[in-house]
Amino acid sequence: MIATYVTQVRFSQGLYLDIKTAMLLWAVESLTLSVLLLAMWWHDRGLKVVLAWALGFAAHGFGIALVGARGLVPDILSIIVGNQLILLGIISWCAGMRFYDGKKLHAVFLVPLIIWVLAMQWHLFNAQFWTRVLVFQLCSALCYFMLGYLMVRGAPQPRGPRRIFAAVCGLQAAAMLATALASPIVRPQRFADLPYFTLYLMIGIFCLVSGIMLGARLLMVRGEERLRQLVISDPLTGVLNRRGFLERFETMRRHPPAGKLMLALAVFDLDHFKDINDRFGHTCGDTVLVTFCRAAQQCIGTRGTFGRIGGEEFAGLLHVASAEEAVQITESVRLALMRQAIETGGIEPVVTATVSAGIMLAPVMSAGIDHMLSVADRALYAAKSAGRNATVLDDGMTITVIGTRETRQQQATAVDAGQTVTLFPPQTLSA
Ligand code: GH3
Ligand code: MG
Ligand code: MG
Repeated sequence: MIATYVTQVRFSQGLYLDIKTAMLLWAVESLTLSVLLLAMWWHDRGLKVVLAWALGFAAHGFGIALVGARGLVPDILSIIVGNQLILLGIISWCAGMRFYDGKKLHAVFLVPLIIWVLAMQWHLFNAQFWTRVLVFQLCSALCYFMLGYLMVRGAPQPRGPRRIFAAVCGLQAAAMLATALASPIVRPQRFADLPYFTLYLMIGIFCLVSGIMLGARLLMVRGEERLRQLVISDPLTGVLNRRGFLERFETMRRHPPAGKLMLALAVFDLDHFKDINDRFGHTCGDTVLVTFCRAAQQCIGTRGTFGRIGGEEFAGLLHVASAEEAVQITESVRLALMRQAIETGGIEPVVTATVSAGIMLAPVMSAGIDHMLSVADRALYAAKSAGRNATVLDDGMTITVIGTRETRQQQATAVDAGQTVTLFPPQTLSA
Protein backbone atom coordinates (compact mmCIF):
# COMPACT_ATOMS: atom_id res chain seq x y z
CA MET A 1 0.00 0.00 0.00
CA ILE A 2 2.65 2.46 1.08
CA ALA A 3 4.86 1.38 -1.77
CA THR A 4 2.35 2.68 -4.31
CA TYR A 5 3.01 6.21 -3.07
CA VAL A 6 6.78 5.88 -2.99
CA THR A 7 7.97 7.63 -6.07
CA GLN A 8 11.42 8.38 -7.28
CA VAL A 9 12.46 11.22 -9.48
CA ARG A 10 15.48 10.82 -11.69
CA PHE A 11 17.73 13.85 -11.63
CA SER A 12 20.44 12.48 -13.89
CA GLN A 13 22.05 9.14 -14.75
CA GLY A 14 22.16 7.17 -11.51
CA LEU A 15 20.90 10.05 -9.32
CA TYR A 16 17.40 9.55 -7.97
CA LEU A 17 15.44 11.49 -5.43
CA ASP A 18 12.81 9.77 -3.36
CA ILE A 19 9.88 12.17 -3.13
CA LYS A 20 8.95 11.21 0.41
CA THR A 21 12.54 11.77 1.53
CA ALA A 22 12.63 15.10 -0.34
CA MET A 23 9.41 16.23 1.31
CA LEU A 24 10.62 15.15 4.73
CA LEU A 25 13.83 17.14 4.24
CA TRP A 26 11.82 20.11 3.02
CA ALA A 27 9.50 19.90 6.05
CA VAL A 28 12.43 19.61 8.49
CA GLU A 29 14.11 22.62 6.90
CA SER A 30 10.91 24.70 7.20
CA LEU A 31 10.30 23.64 10.79
CA THR A 32 13.92 24.37 11.78
CA LEU A 33 13.58 27.84 10.30
CA SER A 34 10.33 28.30 12.14
CA VAL A 35 12.00 27.48 15.47
CA LEU A 36 14.89 29.87 14.72
CA LEU A 37 12.49 32.67 13.82
CA LEU A 38 10.38 32.00 16.91
CA ALA A 39 13.51 32.28 19.07
CA MET A 40 14.32 35.55 17.33
CA TRP A 41 10.81 36.86 17.94
CA TRP A 42 10.99 35.78 21.60
CA HIS A 43 13.90 38.20 22.08
CA ASP A 44 12.06 41.09 20.46
CA ARG A 45 8.29 40.65 20.68
CA GLY A 46 7.72 43.82 18.72
CA LEU A 47 8.85 42.07 15.53
CA LYS A 48 5.45 40.92 14.29
CA VAL A 49 6.95 40.21 10.88
CA VAL A 50 9.24 37.57 12.40
CA LEU A 51 6.35 35.93 14.24
CA ALA A 52 4.25 35.81 11.06
CA TRP A 53 7.13 34.28 9.09
CA ALA A 54 7.83 31.79 11.89
CA LEU A 55 4.20 30.65 11.90
CA GLY A 56 4.29 30.60 8.10
CA PHE A 57 7.27 28.23 8.08
CA ALA A 58 5.64 26.10 10.79
CA ALA A 59 2.41 25.78 8.78
CA HIS A 60 4.37 25.19 5.57
CA GLY A 61 6.59 22.56 7.22
CA PHE A 62 3.72 20.64 8.83
CA GLY A 63 1.75 20.88 5.58
CA ILE A 64 4.57 19.42 3.52
CA ALA A 65 5.15 16.71 6.11
CA LEU A 66 1.47 15.72 5.93
CA VAL A 67 1.41 15.72 2.12
CA GLY A 68 4.61 13.66 2.14
CA ALA A 69 3.05 11.23 4.63
CA ARG A 70 0.35 10.26 2.13
CA GLY A 71 -0.61 6.65 2.84
CA LEU A 72 0.80 6.85 6.36
CA VAL A 73 -1.87 9.19 7.67
CA PRO A 74 -5.58 9.42 6.77
CA ASP A 75 -6.15 10.98 3.34
CA ILE A 76 -8.15 13.84 4.77
CA LEU A 77 -5.10 14.89 6.80
CA SER A 78 -2.66 14.39 3.99
CA ILE A 79 -4.67 15.80 1.10
CA ILE A 80 -6.99 18.38 2.58
CA VAL A 81 -5.32 19.60 5.78
CA GLY A 82 -1.75 19.22 4.45
CA ASN A 83 -2.37 21.40 1.43
CA GLN A 84 -4.40 23.87 3.51
CA LEU A 85 -1.44 24.29 5.82
CA ILE A 86 0.93 24.84 2.90
CA LEU A 87 -1.32 27.61 1.57
CA LEU A 88 -1.74 29.05 5.05
CA GLY A 89 2.06 29.13 5.34
CA ILE A 90 2.44 31.25 2.19
CA ILE A 91 -0.42 33.49 3.35
CA SER A 92 1.42 34.00 6.67
CA TRP A 93 4.51 35.09 4.71
CA CYS A 94 2.26 37.63 2.95
CA ALA A 95 0.98 38.76 6.38
CA GLY A 96 4.61 39.13 7.50
CA MET A 97 5.32 41.39 4.53
CA ARG A 98 2.31 43.55 5.45
CA PHE A 99 3.68 43.89 8.99
CA TYR A 100 7.14 44.58 7.55
CA ASP A 101 5.66 47.52 5.66
CA GLY A 102 3.77 48.70 8.74
CA LYS A 103 0.38 47.82 7.27
CA LYS A 104 -2.57 45.89 8.61
CA LEU A 105 -3.74 42.47 7.50
CA HIS A 106 -6.28 42.22 4.73
CA ALA A 107 -8.90 39.48 4.29
CA VAL A 108 -8.22 39.34 0.54
CA PHE A 109 -5.08 37.30 1.26
CA LEU A 110 -7.27 34.43 2.43
CA VAL A 111 -8.88 34.05 -1.01
CA PRO A 112 -6.59 31.22 -2.27
CA LEU A 113 -7.18 29.24 0.93
CA ILE A 114 -10.94 29.73 0.69
CA ILE A 115 -10.91 28.60 -2.97
CA TRP A 116 -9.02 25.43 -1.99
CA VAL A 117 -11.33 24.63 0.94
CA LEU A 118 -14.46 25.19 -1.15
CA ALA A 119 -13.16 23.26 -4.16
CA MET A 120 -12.34 20.28 -1.94
CA GLN A 121 -15.99 20.08 -0.91
CA TRP A 122 -16.84 19.39 -4.53
CA HIS A 123 -16.55 15.90 -5.98
CA LEU A 124 -15.58 17.31 -9.37
CA PHE A 125 -12.34 18.61 -7.86
CA ASN A 126 -11.57 16.37 -4.93
CA ALA A 127 -11.96 12.91 -6.51
CA GLN A 128 -8.89 12.74 -8.70
CA PHE A 129 -5.21 13.49 -8.26
CA TRP A 130 -4.95 15.68 -11.35
CA THR A 131 -7.95 17.87 -10.42
CA ARG A 132 -6.52 18.41 -6.97
CA VAL A 133 -3.18 19.30 -8.53
CA LEU A 134 -4.95 21.75 -10.83
CA VAL A 135 -6.75 23.55 -7.99
CA PHE A 136 -3.82 23.49 -5.55
CA GLN A 137 -1.28 24.75 -8.08
CA LEU A 138 -3.62 27.58 -9.11
CA CYS A 139 -4.17 28.58 -5.48
CA SER A 140 -0.43 28.42 -4.68
CA ALA A 141 0.41 30.41 -7.81
CA LEU A 142 -2.05 33.06 -6.61
CA CYS A 143 -0.39 33.10 -3.16
CA TYR A 144 3.09 33.56 -4.65
CA PHE A 145 1.77 36.22 -6.98
CA MET A 146 0.38 38.10 -3.95
CA LEU A 147 3.69 37.75 -2.12
CA GLY A 148 5.58 39.10 -5.15
CA TYR A 149 3.08 41.92 -5.48
CA LEU A 150 3.63 42.92 -1.84
CA MET A 151 7.39 42.96 -2.44
CA VAL A 152 7.18 45.56 -5.20
CA ARG A 153 4.07 47.46 -4.19
CA GLY A 154 4.55 47.52 -0.42
CA ALA A 155 7.37 50.08 -0.47
CA PRO A 156 7.36 53.38 -2.38
CA GLN A 157 10.81 52.61 -3.76
CA PRO A 158 11.42 48.85 -3.65
CA ARG A 159 15.17 48.28 -3.38
CA GLY A 160 17.34 45.40 -4.65
CA PRO A 161 16.32 42.54 -2.33
CA ARG A 162 12.62 43.28 -2.70
CA ARG A 163 12.82 43.30 -6.49
CA ILE A 164 14.79 40.05 -6.54
CA PHE A 165 12.34 38.54 -4.05
CA ALA A 166 9.46 39.57 -6.32
CA ALA A 167 11.21 37.93 -9.29
CA VAL A 168 11.70 34.71 -7.28
CA CYS A 169 8.01 34.71 -6.32
CA GLY A 170 7.15 35.32 -9.98
CA LEU A 171 9.26 32.32 -11.01
CA GLN A 172 7.61 30.09 -8.41
CA ALA A 173 4.14 31.31 -9.41
CA ALA A 174 4.93 30.69 -13.10
CA ALA A 175 6.16 27.14 -12.38
CA MET A 176 2.97 26.41 -10.44
CA LEU A 177 0.75 27.95 -13.08
CA ALA A 178 2.47 25.86 -15.78
CA THR A 179 1.93 22.71 -13.70
CA ALA A 180 -1.71 23.62 -13.18
CA LEU A 181 -2.25 24.15 -16.89
CA ALA A 182 -0.46 20.91 -17.77
CA SER A 183 -2.62 18.88 -15.37
CA PRO A 184 -5.82 18.63 -17.49
CA ILE A 185 -3.68 17.66 -20.49
CA VAL A 186 -1.46 15.03 -18.84
CA ARG A 187 -3.93 14.01 -16.15
CA PRO A 188 -1.23 12.70 -13.79
CA GLN A 189 -2.04 9.95 -11.27
CA ARG A 190 0.96 10.73 -9.06
CA PHE A 191 3.67 13.37 -8.68
CA ALA A 192 6.17 11.69 -10.93
CA ASP A 193 3.72 11.76 -13.86
CA LEU A 194 3.79 15.54 -13.89
CA PRO A 195 5.69 16.85 -16.90
CA TYR A 196 9.12 18.29 -16.10
CA PHE A 197 8.57 17.36 -12.46
CA THR A 198 12.33 17.35 -11.80
CA LEU A 199 12.58 20.89 -13.12
CA TYR A 200 9.53 21.87 -11.06
CA LEU A 201 11.15 20.45 -7.91
CA MET A 202 14.43 22.20 -8.61
CA ILE A 203 12.63 25.52 -9.13
CA GLY A 204 10.82 24.95 -5.83
CA ILE A 205 14.08 24.27 -3.98
CA PHE A 206 15.81 27.22 -5.64
CA CYS A 207 12.93 29.56 -4.75
CA LEU A 208 12.75 28.34 -1.16
CA VAL A 209 16.49 28.76 -0.58
CA SER A 210 16.55 32.17 -2.31
CA GLY A 211 13.44 33.21 -0.38
CA ILE A 212 15.11 32.33 2.92
CA MET A 213 18.24 34.28 2.00
CA LEU A 214 16.27 37.28 0.78
CA GLY A 215 14.01 37.19 3.84
CA ALA A 216 17.10 37.24 6.06
CA ARG A 217 18.42 40.18 4.03
CA LEU A 218 15.13 42.05 4.49
CA LEU A 219 15.30 41.51 8.25
CA MET A 220 18.90 42.77 8.26
CA VAL A 221 17.86 45.86 6.32
CA ARG A 222 15.05 46.42 8.84
CA GLY A 223 17.53 46.04 11.74
CA GLU A 224 19.94 48.50 10.11
CA GLU A 225 17.09 50.98 9.53
CA ARG A 226 16.03 50.77 13.18
CA LEU A 227 19.59 51.35 14.35
CA ARG A 228 20.00 54.24 11.98
CA GLN A 229 16.72 55.73 13.19
CA LEU A 230 18.00 55.52 16.76
CA VAL A 231 21.23 57.26 15.79
CA ILE A 232 19.47 60.22 14.21
CA SER A 233 16.55 60.71 16.58
CA ASP A 234 16.16 62.28 19.99
CA PRO A 235 15.05 59.67 22.55
CA LEU A 236 12.87 62.05 24.61
CA THR A 237 10.87 63.78 21.92
CA GLY A 238 11.27 61.41 18.98
CA VAL A 239 12.18 64.24 16.60
CA LEU A 240 15.48 64.36 14.70
CA ASN A 241 18.53 65.04 16.82
CA ARG A 242 21.23 67.48 15.76
CA ARG A 243 22.99 64.90 13.63
CA GLY A 244 19.77 63.84 11.89
CA PHE A 245 18.77 67.44 11.36
CA LEU A 246 22.10 68.34 9.74
CA GLU A 247 21.82 65.34 7.44
CA ARG A 248 18.28 66.32 6.47
CA PHE A 249 19.53 69.81 5.69
CA GLU A 250 21.71 68.40 2.94
CA THR A 251 18.85 66.35 1.49
CA MET A 252 16.45 69.30 1.54
CA ARG A 253 19.04 71.60 0.02
CA ARG A 254 19.57 69.23 -2.89
CA HIS A 255 15.87 68.58 -3.57
CA PRO A 256 13.79 71.76 -3.48
CA PRO A 257 10.16 71.32 -4.54
CA ALA A 258 8.97 73.29 -7.57
CA GLY A 259 8.42 76.98 -6.87
CA LYS A 260 10.07 76.92 -3.41
CA LEU A 261 13.54 78.15 -4.05
CA MET A 262 14.34 79.49 -0.58
CA LEU A 263 15.43 77.61 2.49
CA ALA A 264 14.39 79.06 5.83
CA LEU A 265 16.05 78.00 9.04
CA ALA A 266 14.02 78.81 12.14
CA VAL A 267 15.82 78.30 15.46
CA PHE A 268 13.59 78.01 18.54
CA ASP A 269 14.57 78.37 22.21
CA LEU A 270 12.04 77.90 25.02
CA ASP A 271 11.70 80.96 27.23
CA HIS A 272 12.79 80.79 30.87
CA PHE A 273 12.84 77.05 30.62
CA LYS A 274 15.17 76.76 33.60
CA ASP A 275 12.41 78.36 35.69
CA ILE A 276 9.91 75.72 34.52
CA ASN A 277 12.34 72.99 35.61
CA ASP A 278 13.05 74.72 38.90
CA ARG A 279 9.41 75.41 39.76
CA PHE A 280 7.64 72.31 38.49
CA GLY A 281 10.36 69.70 38.24
CA HIS A 282 12.42 68.15 35.46
CA THR A 283 9.66 65.71 34.44
CA CYS A 284 7.30 68.60 33.86
CA GLY A 285 10.06 70.26 31.79
CA ASP A 286 10.33 67.10 29.72
CA THR A 287 6.57 67.15 29.09
CA VAL A 288 6.84 70.73 27.87
CA LEU A 289 9.61 69.70 25.46
CA VAL A 290 7.55 66.80 24.09
CA THR A 291 4.44 68.98 23.74
CA PHE A 292 6.36 71.67 21.92
CA CYS A 293 7.81 69.16 19.48
CA ARG A 294 4.39 67.72 18.72
CA ALA A 295 2.93 71.17 18.12
CA ALA A 296 5.86 72.24 15.94
CA GLN A 297 5.70 69.09 13.84
CA GLN A 298 2.00 69.60 13.31
CA CYS A 299 2.48 73.20 12.19
CA ILE A 300 5.36 72.42 9.86
CA GLY A 301 3.80 69.25 8.43
CA THR A 302 5.21 68.33 5.06
CA ARG A 303 6.54 71.83 4.42
CA GLY A 304 9.85 71.06 6.10
CA THR A 305 11.57 69.21 8.86
CA PHE A 306 12.06 69.73 12.57
CA GLY A 307 14.72 68.65 15.05
CA ARG A 308 16.18 69.13 18.51
CA ILE A 309 19.59 70.72 18.16
CA GLY A 310 20.33 71.30 21.85
CA GLY A 311 18.81 70.96 25.34
CA GLU A 312 15.78 73.22 24.89
CA GLU A 313 16.79 74.46 21.46
CA PHE A 314 15.10 73.28 18.33
CA ALA A 315 15.23 74.05 14.64
CA GLY A 316 12.82 73.91 11.75
CA LEU A 317 13.99 73.81 8.16
CA LEU A 318 11.44 74.95 5.62
CA HIS A 319 11.17 75.02 1.86
CA VAL A 320 9.52 78.37 1.20
CA ALA A 321 8.82 80.73 -1.66
CA SER A 322 9.16 83.92 0.39
CA ALA A 323 10.16 85.39 3.74
CA GLU A 324 6.47 85.90 4.54
CA GLU A 325 5.81 82.18 4.24
CA ALA A 326 8.74 81.40 6.57
CA VAL A 327 7.48 83.95 9.09
CA GLN A 328 3.96 82.61 8.94
CA ILE A 329 4.98 79.01 9.64
CA THR A 330 7.35 80.04 12.44
CA GLU A 331 4.71 82.26 14.03
CA SER A 332 2.20 79.42 13.86
CA VAL A 333 4.65 77.28 15.88
CA ARG A 334 5.17 80.07 18.45
CA LEU A 335 1.43 80.67 18.80
CA ALA A 336 0.66 76.97 18.98
CA LEU A 337 2.85 76.63 22.06
CA MET A 338 1.46 79.79 23.61
CA ARG A 339 -2.10 78.49 23.17
CA GLN A 340 -1.30 75.09 24.58
CA ALA A 341 -2.33 74.23 28.14
CA ILE A 342 0.24 71.54 28.92
CA GLU A 343 -0.96 68.79 31.22
CA THR A 344 1.95 67.66 33.35
CA GLY A 345 0.35 65.29 35.81
CA GLY A 346 2.66 66.79 38.42
CA ILE A 347 2.35 69.29 41.28
CA GLU A 348 1.13 71.89 38.84
CA PRO A 349 -1.42 70.02 36.66
CA VAL A 350 -1.38 72.52 33.79
CA VAL A 351 1.43 74.85 32.75
CA THR A 352 2.00 77.15 29.81
CA ALA A 353 5.25 77.95 28.08
CA THR A 354 6.47 80.29 25.37
CA VAL A 355 9.21 80.14 22.79
CA SER A 356 11.36 82.61 20.91
CA ALA A 357 12.42 82.08 17.32
CA GLY A 358 15.05 83.42 14.95
CA ILE A 359 14.75 82.93 11.21
CA MET A 360 17.43 83.04 8.55
CA LEU A 361 16.55 82.77 4.89
CA ALA A 362 18.81 81.82 1.97
CA PRO A 363 18.40 80.77 -1.66
CA VAL A 364 18.56 76.98 -1.90
CA MET A 365 21.55 77.12 -4.24
CA SER A 366 23.78 79.01 -1.82
CA ALA A 367 22.43 77.80 1.53
CA GLY A 368 25.07 76.64 4.02
CA ILE A 369 24.13 75.26 7.41
CA ASP A 370 26.93 76.83 9.47
CA HIS A 371 26.28 80.33 8.21
CA MET A 372 22.50 79.96 8.47
CA LEU A 373 22.72 78.63 12.02
CA SER A 374 24.89 81.50 13.21
CA VAL A 375 22.63 84.13 11.59
CA ALA A 376 19.45 82.44 12.90
CA ASP A 377 21.04 82.32 16.38
CA ARG A 378 21.71 86.04 16.16
CA ALA A 379 18.04 86.58 15.27
CA LEU A 380 17.04 84.38 18.19
CA TYR A 381 19.01 86.52 20.63
CA ALA A 382 17.30 89.54 19.14
CA ALA A 383 13.95 87.87 19.86
CA LYS A 384 15.01 87.25 23.47
CA SER A 385 16.07 90.89 23.76
CA ALA A 386 12.74 91.99 22.29
CA GLY A 387 11.04 90.52 25.34
CA ARG A 388 10.89 86.78 24.43
CA ASN A 389 7.83 84.96 23.03
CA ALA A 390 8.77 86.63 19.74
CA THR A 391 9.92 85.83 16.22
CA VAL A 392 12.75 87.70 14.51
CA LEU A 393 13.74 87.47 10.87
CA ASP A 394 17.34 88.11 9.82
CA ASP A 395 17.79 88.04 6.06
CA GLY A 396 21.49 88.80 6.30
CA MET A 397 20.97 92.54 5.86
CA THR A 398 18.09 93.60 8.07
CA ILE A 399 16.68 92.28 11.32
CA THR A 400 12.88 92.37 11.62
CA VAL A 401 10.99 91.76 14.82
CA ILE A 402 7.60 90.30 13.92
CA GLY A 403 4.93 92.41 15.59
CA THR A 404 5.50 94.83 18.42
CA ARG A 405 5.79 93.95 22.07
CA GLU A 406 2.30 95.34 22.53
CA THR A 407 0.71 93.18 19.85
CA ARG A 408 2.38 90.12 21.31
CA GLN A 409 1.10 91.13 24.72
CA GLN A 410 -2.38 91.46 23.18
CA GLN A 411 -2.05 87.96 21.76
CA ALA A 412 -1.08 86.58 25.15
CA THR A 413 -4.06 88.32 26.78
CA ALA A 414 -6.37 86.99 24.08
CA VAL A 415 -5.01 83.48 24.65
CA ASP A 416 -5.53 83.83 28.39
CA ALA A 417 -9.12 84.94 27.70
CA GLY A 418 -9.65 81.89 25.47
CA GLN A 419 -10.04 84.02 22.32
CA THR A 420 -8.82 83.02 18.90
CA VAL A 421 -5.49 84.52 18.00
CA THR A 422 -4.89 85.34 14.36
CA LEU A 423 -1.50 85.33 12.73
CA PHE A 424 0.11 88.53 11.65
CA PRO A 425 -0.47 89.00 7.96
CA PRO A 426 2.86 89.53 6.19
CA GLN A 427 2.18 93.20 5.40
CA THR A 428 2.09 94.08 9.07
CA LEU A 429 5.70 93.03 9.65
CA SER A 430 7.36 95.84 11.50
CA ALA A 431 10.97 96.64 12.19
P1 GH3 B 1 16.04 81.81 28.07
O1 GH3 B 1 14.67 82.35 28.04
O2 GH3 B 1 17.07 82.90 28.05
O3 GH3 B 1 16.30 80.82 27.01
O4 GH3 B 1 16.21 81.10 29.47
P2 GH3 B 1 16.27 79.58 29.77
O5 GH3 B 1 16.03 79.38 31.22
O6 GH3 B 1 15.37 78.85 28.86
O7 GH3 B 1 17.74 79.20 29.34
P3 GH3 B 1 18.91 78.49 30.10
O8 GH3 B 1 19.94 78.22 29.05
O9 GH3 B 1 19.34 79.26 31.30
O10 GH3 B 1 18.30 77.14 30.61
C1 GH3 B 1 18.03 76.06 29.78
C2 GH3 B 1 17.58 74.92 30.66
O11 GH3 B 1 17.11 73.84 29.89
C3 GH3 B 1 18.71 74.40 31.52
C4 GH3 B 1 18.59 72.90 31.40
O12 GH3 B 1 18.57 72.26 32.64
C5 GH3 B 1 17.28 72.71 30.71
N1 GH3 B 1 17.26 71.49 29.92
C6 GH3 B 1 18.08 71.14 28.90
N2 GH3 B 1 17.75 69.93 28.43
C7 GH3 B 1 16.68 69.49 29.14
C8 GH3 B 1 15.89 68.30 29.12
O13 GH3 B 1 16.09 67.36 28.34
N3 GH3 B 1 14.87 68.19 30.00
C9 GH3 B 1 14.61 69.20 30.90
N4 GH3 B 1 13.59 69.04 31.72
N5 GH3 B 1 15.36 70.32 30.95
C10 GH3 B 1 16.38 70.47 30.09
MG1 MG C 1 18.95 77.69 25.33
MG1 MG D 1 15.70 78.90 26.76
